[in-house]
Amino acid sequence: MLEKSALYVVATPIGNLSDISLRALDVLAKVDVVAAEHIQNSRHLLAAHSITAKLISLHQHNETAVADKISAILDSGKSVALVTDAGTPGISDPGAILVKRVRAQGYPVIPVPGANAAICALSAAGIMDPHFLFYGFLPAKTGLRKSELTALKSQHCTLIFYEAPHRILECVADMMDIFGSQRQLTIARELTKLFETIHAGTLEETLAWLQADSNQQKGEFVLLLSGAEISDKSEISEQARHTLKCLLAELPLKQAVKLVTEITGENRNTLYQLALDLKSTGYPE
Ligand code: SAM
Repeated sequence: MLEKSALYVVATPIGNLSDISLRALDVLAKVDVVAAEHIQNSRHLLAAHSITAKLISLHQHNETAVADKISAILDSGKSVALVTDAGTPGISDPGAILVKRVRAQGYPVIPVPGANAAICALSAAGIMDPHFLFYGFLPAKTGLRKSELTALKSQHCTLIFYEAPHRILECVADMMDIFGSQRQLTIARELTKLFETIHAGTLEETLAWLQADSNQQKGEFVLLLSGAEISDKSEISEQARHTLKCLLAELPLKQAVKLVTEITGENRNTLYQLALDLKSTGYPE
């Protein structure tokens, strides 16, 4: 039995039509209305599972207006499912506006979990780092993309990006400009589909690998970039660490590092990395 006046947020496959849960199929078969990003794509998925449903269109450009419609449907006691073209709604996809609206109305929002490209890629990448930051899409323009990448440079965790085929080469080239040639990148392409490929190497190697074969530039991509190496901060004496913290509270980062290097004789690069770490964790705010 489904709940009345509820919004079900239903994950759908990212390629292979069998990657859908029994619960998702049950919900999609029973709700009164399915709000779909592209009706044609969702009709194809539902037909593959012999489900007929009343579909309405909800996408990035009409989400606010359709949220009004859906809220009226919920007022009448009916239930609605939200699906997108692929994966989990609300993850680099529409959904947040509708979900916020329905939650504000006081109706239940019920997630029905399933496929997500980022998690799918991570699960098969063999990355030992237990931490990751999901970034989603970078800006389309190089200048903005580079400035967002620069802001991520000192992150120590794995960084996960989505990218479109027509920008894959320039995006990986920009990553190499900002992070250097030796950072590790895993490219997960066309996951769960016929040409599924997972390839890992340094930024330099993976860029060359993409350039060498235009077939590898096609399809959908998840990029997993290793984080900045953590310098051995244990080398730094407690006194130097304390002095750095005090000076960072008063001076610009570079000046603080310069003075602590002169005062303590510690390694400048190690102090610089520690200063970046302190800043990125919010110190001294
Ligand atoms: N909501 C989806 C999710 O949960 O992963 C993401 C939707 S976002 C609009 C689409 C992007 O996700 C693609 O451009 C690509 O970067 C990534 N993606 C989706 N399906 C993929 C697949 N089968 N293989 C690799 N990346 C995929």
